[in-house]
Amino acid sequence: MASATGDRRGRRLVLKMSGEALASSASDEAIDAAVVQRLAEDIAAACSELDLQLAIMVGGGNIWRGTTGEAMGIDRATSDTMGMLGTVINALALQDAVERQGQPTRVLTAVHMAEVAEPYIRRRAIRHLEKGRVVIFAAGMGNPYFTTDTSAALRAAEIEAEMLLKGTHSGVDGVYSADPKVEPGAVRFDEVTFMDVISRDLRVMDLTAITFCKDNKLPILVFDLMAPGAVRRALAGGQIGTLIR
Ligand code: UDP
Repeated sequence: MASATGDRRGRRLVLKMSGEALASSASDEAIDAAVVQRLAEDIAAACSELDLQLAIMVGGGNIWRGTTGEAMGIDRATSDTMGMLGTVINALALQDAVERQGQPTRVLTAVHMAEVAEPYIRRRAIRHLEKGRVVIFAAGMGNPYFTTDTSAALRAAEIEAEMLLKGTHSGVDGVYSADPKVEPGAVRFDEVTFMDVISRDLRVMDLTAITFCKDNKLPILVFDLMAPGAVRRALAGGQIGTLIR
């Protein structure tokens, strides 16, 4: 049974990273290379220290969201495809930064673009992980109308990961009884059930992702990705965030 804390040495994990985590107020660009480097340092250090099998699903919200385009009158499926392509840009930025730390990676895309990256093939993803490469999933699951949260949950189940780690970028460091930005008295849970998240509408990930994880008994650790050293602590199994199971 997964726990929020404990030794994760040698474990297979999926980390979901929002696209906005790669941006910052210090830069006008969609990607702040200094932020990506800091995250990459944490990721590479955790992988080598803990011998992890780590796959990362990157979002694309810093570049484009399907719903943004839809609100502008762009066809939803087209707009979602634009969003998926945004995640590929982020995946390449992350690959570059992680490899500069000496950690081998492979980007696997759900939309085929053979000149850029390998296509996502489940058994190949597992093989890369077994060989110690960080796998970066790009283009979500390749279908419009979905998010990278749901894609991360799907891939985690497919590759038989033990846990999905959902790194938030909004300064909220776990699951709270209410929105802590609106209700200052809201309390953070160390652990919460899927049923509680659904019935109390705690909104930590999209509901499709939560339901999928519940049905497939895949625990989720929600934590603040941007806090210094947080990625390393979450990957290492330190006391951090909220475990949903
Ligand atoms: N997207 C999609 N199918 C997928 C994954 C993503 O259509 O399987 C599109 C969708 O338009 C989404 C955008 O890609 O808005 C960026 O992904 P997401 O919003 O999940 O990124 P994040 O919020 O994590 O940065």
